[in-house]
Amino acid sequence: MSHADRLAELGQRLDGLGVDALLVTSRANIRYLTGFGGTNGVALVRPEAATFLTDFRYTERAAPLEAFMEVRQVARDVMKAACEHLAELVPGSSRIGFESAHMTVAQHERLIAAAPAPPVATTGAVERLRAVKDTAEQEAVRRSAALIQPVLERIAGAGLVGRTEREVAWSIQEAFHELGAEGLSFPSIVAAHEHGAQPHAEPGDDLIGPDTLVTIDLGCVLDGYCSDCTRTFATGDVPARLGEAYAVCLEAQLAAMEGIRAGLDCADADAIGRDVIAAAGLGEHFGHPLGHGVGLEVHEDPRLSAMSSATLEPGMVVTVEPGIYLPGLGGVRIEDLVIVTENGCERLTGYPKELTTLG
Ligand code: ZN
Ligand code: ZN
Repeated sequence: MSHADRLAELGQRLDGLGVDALLVTSRANIRYLTGFGGTNGVALVRPEAATFLTDFRYTERAAPLEAFMEVRQVARDVMKAACEHLAELVPGSSRIGFESAHMTVAQHERLIAAAPAPPVATTGAVERLRAVKDTAEQEAVRRSAALIQPVLERIAGAGLVGRTEREVAWSIQEAFHELGAEGLSFPSIVAAHEHGAQPHAEPGDDLIGPDTLVTIDLGCVLDGYCSDCTRTFATGDVPARLGEAYAVCLEAQLAAMEGIRAGLDCADADAIGRDVIAAAGLGEHFGHPLGHGVGLEVHEDPRLSAMSSATLEPGMVVTVEPGIYLPGLGGVRIEDLVIVTENGCERLTGYPKELTTLG
């Protein structure tokens, strides 16, 4: 889908949002709609036209956008400039929508002062478009995910015992760089011993010892698209409770993978994994959603959560990542990245999931 098509699609949805024009300020949403990857810009989308405002530093980078939208060079404060240009860009009584999740209070106050009618808060308009990936986006996520397996193989080859979590995390970053990634999609998590009980532990400086589980959550960015995967390794004979937690987590992950398909409600997907863990008496130790969408951002719609009202559609890219966290002891998470298909899902992270012991 071309950027022109994406802008046109959003333009057609404006009336349904109750607005005549939408100010898009989220960086990821701007990138999706226009391809612009810089850090300072605002897009004003109308049903028949769109205007992009950016400052001098990005004028050259924004030049390709002129093929399908108007580009204006303005002062560094692009939101202030957008307010000043509003009167010229939209008719007098226009309802201006804004992204309430991506605007500061100061910007909002300025918009109220400048808008011809009270501005309208919107949420998720572009995010809903982004949730279903077109074929080019699916291919970009596939290529981003394909870099994970060789990185995990390098880690397995180098071993874990006697290294610090921080060393292992740094080696992940080096490996992604050598394989051609643009960067990390999030700071890698390497969590051994009792750190494994924290779903988002920060790598520390203690040495990784034998006979524990080590959770490694990693992903990269390639051509703007993120990847995300977790594997948990053993470093010897792990305590019985951790061994049991691993087996239950794997059973939950495999059950959810089996159930994922277009037409399944995201809340029901979450329940598949959650029920397996609850049946083993470990429900209280799985306190986060089963998964999330991945694309231009590593966490985006849809959310595979009990709170979600979304339904899986072909082309959605989601993670499937149950975890079990035992305070003071350790934890396990197993995460795959998949593309939802009509009858199931395509797994993009093929590294083995059986418990592997590394020295
Ligand atoms: Zn992850
Ligand atoms: Zn994830």
